[in-house]
Amino acid sequence: MKNIILIAPPAAGKGTLSEMLVEKYNYCHISTGDLLRSAATDGTDLGEKISIMLKNGELVTDEIVFELLERRLKENDIQNGYILDGFPRTLSQAKMYDEMLTKLGLDLGIVVVIDTKYETLMKRIVGRVLCHDCGSVYNTLTGVNTPKVEGICDKCGGKLEKRSDDNEESFKTRFKNYEEKTAPLIDYYKEKGSLFFINGESKEQMLSEIEALLHD
Ligand code: AMP
Repeated sequence: MKNIILIAPPAAGKGTLSEMLVEKYNYCHISTGDLLRSAATDGTDLGEKISIMLKNGELVTDEIVFELLERRLKENDIQNGYILDGFPRTLSQAKMYDEMLTKLGLDLGIVVVIDTKYETLMKRIVGRVLCHDCGSVYNTLTGVNTPKVEGICDKCGGKLEKRSDDNEESFKTRFKNYEEKTAPLIDYYKEKGSLFFINGESKEQMLSEIEALLHD
């Protein structure tokens, strides 16, 4: 399958779309946010540094991100195609990534922008809660996936918690970062001829639009 880069503001549906593509096409899903969150809890000094940057909603340094990503792209499970979620975040990361692709002998694939309204994004982030035990995701503001009993997981009865970076302040910083640093990538990839847009307001629409691109 074609490799996919997803470009979208926080909570535009990158995670949901990736999950659907993993299930249907056996894609390997690589989220730099997940790689960083996992590194942040490894008990090292570096982990502590990453943890502070994540809590503040700041971008983590390129050096750290590239080290984690290169390690991940050397694993065997990416051979059937992989989805990059949350990377590249800046023009400089996009350029460095081109060099990494050449070095590792990998294809860029297609770059997909998920279009989603600002109000939808804010509600998805501020209302998002996750089950501490099974990881299921719910939302208390959007009306989609509302837990039946407040604070309790429908599936396993576990306690629902907020991710520490899912607050309004952090959302605003992350959205501003996106507009300033990530949105310029759109022109970069447009010039390369690898850029496509899909609508992120509903799951079904996202999937059908991306499938059309994959089968092109
Ligand atoms: P995400 O899960 O993609 O929303 O990312 C959560 C946080 O991880 C971001 O707010 C950044 O602090 C950090 N992060 C994720 N990907 C990158 C990246 N490519 N470069 C720098 N920081 C990143």
